[in-house]
Amino acid sequence: MNTSSQALADDQGISEFHTISHGLYIGGQWRQSADGRGIRVIDPSTEAIIAAVPDATLEDAAAAVDAAAKAAHGWRTMSPRRRSEILRRCFELMTERSEALATLIALENGKALRDARGEIAYAAEFFRWNAEAAVRITGEFGTAPSGTNRIVVDYEPIGICVLITPWNFPAAMATRKIAPALAAGCTVILKPASETPLTAYALAALYQDAGVPPGVVNVLTTTSPGPVTAAMLADPRVRKLSFTGSTGVGRALLAEAAKHVVSCSMELGGNAPFIVFDDADLEAALDGAMVAKMRNAGEACTAANRLYVQSGIYEAFCDGLEKRMSSLMVGAGTDPDTECGPMITRKAVEKIDRLVTDAVARGARIMCGGSVLSGGGFFYPPTVLRDVPGDARMAHEEIFGPVAPISSFETEVEVIARANDTEYGLAAYIYTRDLARGMRVAARIESGMIALNRGLMSDPAAPFGGVKQSGLGREGGQHGISEFMEAKYIAVTI
Ligand code: NAD
Repeated sequence: MNTSSQALADDQGISEFHTISHGLYIGGQWRQSADGRGIRVIDPSTEAIIAAVPDATLEDAAAAVDAAAKAAHGWRTMSPRRRSEILRRCFELMTERSEALATLIALENGKALRDARGEIAYAAEFFRWNAEAAVRITGEFGTAPSGTNRIVVDYEPIGICVLITPWNFPAAMATRKIAPALAAGCTVILKPASETPLTAYALAALYQDAGVPPGVVNVLTTTSPGPVTAAMLADPRVRKLSFTGSTGVGRALLAEAAKHVVSCSMELGGNAPFIVFDDADLEAALDGAMVAKMRNAGEACTAANRLYVQSGIYEAFCDGLEKRMSSLMVGAGTDPDTECGPMITRKAVEKIDRLVTDAVARGARIMCGGSVLSGGGFFYPPTVLRDVPGDARMAHEEIFGPVAPISSFETEVEVIARANDTEYGLAAYIYTRDLARGMRVAARIESGMIALNRGLMSDPAAPFGGVKQSGLGREGGQHGISEFMEAKYIAVTI
């Protein structure tokens, strides 16, 4: 903690303040915002204020773009091997510091420590995978059909990137962008969510320790994301916007980026169907449903949002899920025994409550949970609803909480139509022992990602992303690096 951070904390009457670096991180320096204002960070498990971070202004944003521009030439011309070694060091340091980082995530985000540990392992893998990929970026070479020239295609770093991330995976959503951007040779400005800035700053300190040169990664927090982002996109040196967050904000940012023809990658909201056919392995489907629904207490874009279970297995599945959900330990994120932590804000709890009330009013039956928990912290209990009708709001909106709405279906054709009846298309889950049916249904579901007999599909080596209103572009694997490169075609006379 630096002295000015402490002064800011004292000004805001914050008694408990954690000893980590958290100023704006610009050009390798930690600093306060230009106007000295701060943002309070709340522990959602207790509602206590745990820290304050600077609230960046337009002036700070301009300084961050300047720093990224100053570092750009050195980074893009550094040998791929050296860049790779620095990325590898980021992976090693994240692994070494995993317990402290997981505790920080559990504290500021509220997710259960076991989920936070899983997130850190996942987040670190983006550095390992991209360290390996950084030395394997290749081009293309061919002959023009006319025979008059060679076609040489080189892949170059796209330029300065603005990266915007949500609060639900404060480490992984950042490293999923930073690691491939750096592997491609780009410099970046990260704007993390105001709810979870401490993880982003702890990682900035880690990048510094790993040898990432000043200005290659810059991090700023702000309560004015619209104007700050608009100002950065208006700077002609910025060539890329990579955003993860809600579809509504994504749409607004696409319109902003269009003014300056800035390349965009968009990882947006989801409404994942979880489909269980009669022939599925029931225990495996229940285990998978618990992961797909309850990782991060349901606060995940890939979370199972609608569970469709074929009539022959419906009763057994509803009973099995109710048993598993009602036995989960609800508690503070940092408590090692917690299996379901609090939601991020009171507003999030209120939204979940409204969706449950709406579903019940339309005929859904509560099997467990179903009402807000009293006391401090933003808690909603693990909830199972059965017989949820298709016109319930939660069938069309992201619940983003620990609520599993189940309804039954009869035929494959029917469930495909119901699964596709959404503006989203991010993730879907299918359970069946019939591989041919699994592949047939997977082909007809309008979704960027399918988990077949699995409750989890996220993998740093695979293309993560959605179709329809769930986004544009992919993160992870070779696709993830490609988002940060431009093809340059050179016609060579022969
Ligand atoms: P959000 O859209 O409210 O915020 C995301 C980020 O955008 C935050 O950093 C926020 O400060 C910033 N932001 C908000 N308004 C902005 C503006 N006008 N200009 C620039 N930046 C702005 O989303 P959230 O509530 O933080 O996250 C939850 C959403 O994220 C859910 O919809 C979830 O599905 C989605 N999500 C998607 C993925 C994916 O990979 N597709 C992953 C995680 C979360």
